[in-house]
Amino acid sequence: AEMREDRIEKTKTVCTYCGVGCSFDVWTKGREILKVEPREEAPANGISTCVKGKFGWDFVNSEERLTKPLIRKGDSFVESTWEEALDLIESKFKDKIKEKGPDKLAFISSSKCTNEESYLMQKLARSVVGTNNIDNCSRYCQSPATMGLWRTVGHGGDSGSITDIAQSELVISIGSNTAESHPVLATRVKRAQKLHGQKVIVSDLRRNELAARADLFVQPNPSTDLIWLSGVTKYIIDQGWHDERFITEHVNDFDEYYKTIEKYTLDYTSEMTGMSKDELIEIAESIHKAKTTCILWAMGVTQKQGGSDTSTAISNLLLATGNYMKPGAGAYPLRGHNNVQGASDFGSMPDRFPGYEFVTDDEVRARYEKGWGTELPKVPGLNNHEMVDYIHDGNLDMLYLKGEEMGIVDSNINYVQAAFEKLEFFVVQDIFFSKTCEFADVVLPASPSFEKDGTFVNTERRFQRLYQVFEPLEGSKPDWQIIMEVANRLGAGWNYEHPAEIMDEAASLAPLFAGVSYDRLEGYDSLQWPVNADGTDTPLLFTEGFPFPDGKARFYPVEWTEPVEFGEEYDIHVNNGRLLEHFHEGNMTYKSEGITMKTPEVFLEVSHELAEERGIEDGSFVRLTSPYGSVKVKALVTDRVYGKQVYLPMNDSGEGAINKLTSSYADKDTDTPAYKEASAKLEVLGEK
Ligand code: SF4
Repeated sequence: AEMREDRIEKTKTVCTYCGVGCSFDVWTKGREILKVEPREEAPANGISTCVKGKFGWDFVNSEERLTKPLIRKGDSFVESTWEEALDLIESKFKDKIKEKGPDKLAFISSSKCTNEESYLMQKLARSVVGTNNIDNCSRYCQSPATMGLWRTVGHGGDSGSITDIAQSELVISIGSNTAESHPVLATRVKRAQKLHGQKVIVSDLRRNELAARADLFVQPNPSTDLIWLSGVTKYIIDQGWHDERFITEHVNDFDEYYKTIEKYTLDYTSEMTGMSKDELIEIAESIHKAKTTCILWAMGVTQKQGGSDTSTAISNLLLATGNYMKPGAGAYPLRGHNNVQGASDFGSMPDRFPGYEFVTDDEVRARYEKGWGTELPKVPGLNNHEMVDYIHDGNLDMLYLKGEEMGIVDSNINYVQAAFEKLEFFVVQDIFFSKTCEFADVVLPASPSFEKDGTFVNTERRFQRLYQVFEPLEGSKPDWQIIMEVANRLGAGWNYEHPAEIMDEAASLAPLFAGVSYDRLEGYDSLQWPVNADGTDTPLLFTEGFPFPDGKARFYPVEWTEPVEFGEEYDIHVNNGRLLEHFHEGNMTYKSEGITMKTPEVFLEVSHELAEERGIEDGSFVRLTSPYGSVKVKALVTDRVYGKQVYLPMNDSGEGAINKLTSSYADKDTDTPAYKEASAKLEVLGEK
């Protein structure tokens, strides 16, 4: 008989990089990956993928994969058995809970992991340990977008599907490097622009790829998006171009809202943003002329002190112009990680159960107490930003972190790493020995997406199943199994045999996912939440009205927040974001040969003006220093940036790690770090 090792297998999976949620068949032979085959029926991507989806998989078989738990002994680590590692975790956690109570522990879930794993992590924190100190890395990116949508329209998700964006007459992209960060989605926009004359407006500091192709590209001064959004909305209303019928039927608080934007005259708006009046009027006219407008936005909006408010201003503009409740219109916050939507959806948040119900709501909590058979904490817990401060202040002692390179990707990492040093006990669960692992007391070897069954939710609220391509590499385990073992050591008595059972339980408790089941997600089948008990899903998020008691959305007045100034000497504005080829700190992509051949290292984009003024040669080293730290990186002189703005990709975990420069300032409503409000002084080092 033919051995399994010799057979070519095809397994459907979902990409573990960005939030577009491309799905495809992986062809394998033994543990060899032969190719990735996208299929027509894939809902988000059809036959497309980007370079990461196609070539970014060598890391799964990397020699550097962790295959044994590690326990710290002084300054080094020794390999241990699972038994020993779990024994240690059990005794440390139990003692701490007994001596100081459950709130001295905190948990961080991963948006690379499945929904089922995020569900179990929050269940572990809440029902086994007894704390709401649970969060995930959406805190670092899109929480402000979610907040802006909750305030105005009641659901924190994309208004429709990716295919709806392609139908839209006008796409406005704000603070999003779409072509590199969400490549397949950007391809759809590019195609719609070419084939049926979709108009594309891009607002960004940097002439990114989509900006270069846009019908109108505007470069407002850093952190002034709220001002131009409000100015454009006021202009539209003053021209009588707002959708009065839609507002009367579906939206509250118009008059109060209008009063708060009255000050945004064209003169004021233009002066504050540096945009010309013509540009502002063109944007307003374009929205007026288009039957449908959708707005895409990402970290260039959210990672600011006023990130939630600017996201709110986007939604206010869409409400004023009646751009909700129809295909091709609406709000599209572009989710960064493959499962950043799902990690929050499934309750890895300090104040919300799965499906976004509040832990403070007695009725909801009673439902979970009954379902889980235990009393639950009612006070909201700490978010991951607060956790760092609490550790520094001696108020948080232990952290269990899974699948997150927090020591590199959080902002102001010198401060974050100093907090890790102070932890009494630190458990890190990952597939590689990350920088964060260096601070751990116990490291647990997990399995990547190719070695798991489960589900992800992509940016369009779409559940998709991933099927196990390979058995877990010997010694490693899928995260859901590890969490279950930790929980059982603490007395949980869980016995899930397959992630499908975890999903069934979550669906039985969270009304938003009532009809989600593995049967309904067979193969390439998918469901977009909310999913009713009978299995009907919701491709278009708002049809009848909005999820508020009276069914109406609301205008939510917001004010502009000035960006933080580091001081005069820090005269270079440091923008940051992704590169197409790499993903974040690069723990996976740098271990994939097809990718590193193309882009072996990051570089600092410097404008021609700045290069000339300071004598920076292409390919030579410069040093950037902020009040928080310093990086050394090679310069690339380019016309993608202008003036004193530089762009440093976030894809370096060594000497060029961007978050040595960023601060601990954060969005005032969600604590999302203000990564995009950074500045530094620049020193030319010269050598190549
Ligand atoms: Fe698709 Fe994003 Fe994966 Fe690229 S990284 S294949 S766009 S899901």
